[in-house]
Amino acid sequence: MSSMWQPVDEIARDVNSGKLSAVTLVNKALTRIEESKKYNAIITLTADRARERAETIDTKIQSGQSAGRLAGVPFIAKDNFLVFGSETTAASNILKGFTAPYQSTVINMLEAEGAICVAKANLDAFGHGGSTENSDFGPTLNPHDTNKVPGGSSGGSAAAVVLDMVPFALGTDTGGSSRQPASFSGCVGYKPTYGLMSRSGIIAMASSTDTVGVLAHSVSDVAYVTDCMSGKDSLDSTTIDRDPQGYIIDKPLSSLKGKKIGVIKEYMSDGVDSAVKASIQQAIDALEAQGADIETISIPSLSLALAVYYVLVPAEISSNLSRYDGQRFGYSDSAAKDLEDSYTHARSKGFGKEAKRRIMIGTHVLSSGYYDAYYKKAQLVRTKIIKEVDRAFQSVDFLVGPTAPTTAFNIGQNIHDPIQMYLSDLMTVGASLTGIPAIVIPVHKVNGMPVGLQIMAPQNADRALFEVAQVAQKEINT
Ligand code: GLN
Repeated sequence: MSSMWQPVDEIARDVNSGKLSAVTLVNKALTRIEESKKYNAIITLTADRARERAETIDTKIQSGQSAGRLAGVPFIAKDNFLVFGSETTAASNILKGFTAPYQSTVINMLEAEGAICVAKANLDAFGHGGSTENSDFGPTLNPHDTNKVPGGSSGGSAAAVVLDMVPFALGTDTGGSSRQPASFSGCVGYKPTYGLMSRSGIIAMASSTDTVGVLAHSVSDVAYVTDCMSGKDSLDSTTIDRDPQGYIIDKPLSSLKGKKIGVIKEYMSDGVDSAVKASIQQAIDALEAQGADIETISIPSLSLALAVYYVLVPAEISSNLSRYDGQRFGYSDSAAKDLEDSYTHARSKGFGKEAKRRIMIGTHVLSSGYYDAYYKKAQLVRTKIIKEVDRAFQSVDFLVGPTAPTTAFNIGQNIHDPIQMYLSDLMTVGASLTGIPAIVIPVHKVNGMPVGLQIMAPQNADRALFEVAQVAQKEINT
């Protein structure tokens, strides 16, 4: 996709050499944000801090020092990342007015390389949703058609990239929240192997599948940013070692010869819009033309992944949201009679409908009478899915399929029908439950709306995933 921004490594090179100034780049991003206000992709600006950081970087470079591998590169973070001094709401009323007292590890890592956060992006409150309509700040509009949703929950981050506000944006991905908006809005969206990037300082949704997400114009930019913010963190015990080779694509593959790619049969079923399927098939043909060995592969238990996800994830959500009690963070009702009254008021007024729905489901499936029937059974099926996906990777190197069954739907179309909304996660939750990396790249549009091809790899094969996705992005027409 074309962008007014250069690749991130080139921006940093030009800033470090003094050819570009960080202040100019930050102002360019802020202007673009201002021009694109009607899309409602942004919740808050971090303009003052961004300008200060940019001035410091420019001064450093003028004095002959280098400012890092992302020197002066502006970016936007989803509003569930804690960024020093910024109001961090996760798009929920219950956190309005909450100022981040510390900063997430990945933001620290990006800043250490000279990147500059200019704004916080809109999302479905707490990451619950697939359209950004569950935001207490109003929905974000799709950059290609303002009657349609941009996807979610990282809809603001995806729209920010597509509207060219910044070269890259951070999202999160618990069940598809960076991939599905990339597909709906038309950019690259990536979820790493579970544990590759620290979640310290990111507002938790469901701890066993939460990951950071990266959204950008190109696979190589996503890989470069990943290289700057992955690896072990003592503040998040689930983190794993990074690939010793790193993630930067230094020698792009010249073809896909010898790569075995499995098309997931269950993801090309009747439930997928036929035009979307045709676009995906066209992309798969392009991979074959590049020398890849394509075969169809059946992973039967993947058809249960959505049901498993919507038992396990609400269970974890109900536990993670219990900390919002009106006593320590954000919204609190000062007129409350006593402590219990205070809890009740803060939670009933602060949480939106979807958070309440998930707390109800989550506490129900964890309750002593239903734990065996729902939570435990879902865990058993999750293990079965992991085994079947492992087995698939014994015969192929990568798995591919659509990202979502349709293109972006209309604003308001699914908001009163949670099941219909959840169905747009059908093809993304599998990678989340199994902890494998997955990336989405834009392919041929359908009626002017973007479609994304999803490519998945075994755990820790993120580097190989980038290499293949880069060839795919180069060869597939959008
Ligand atoms: N749409 C999915 C859900 O609502 C995924 C959300 C996410 O990845 N944060 O749970």
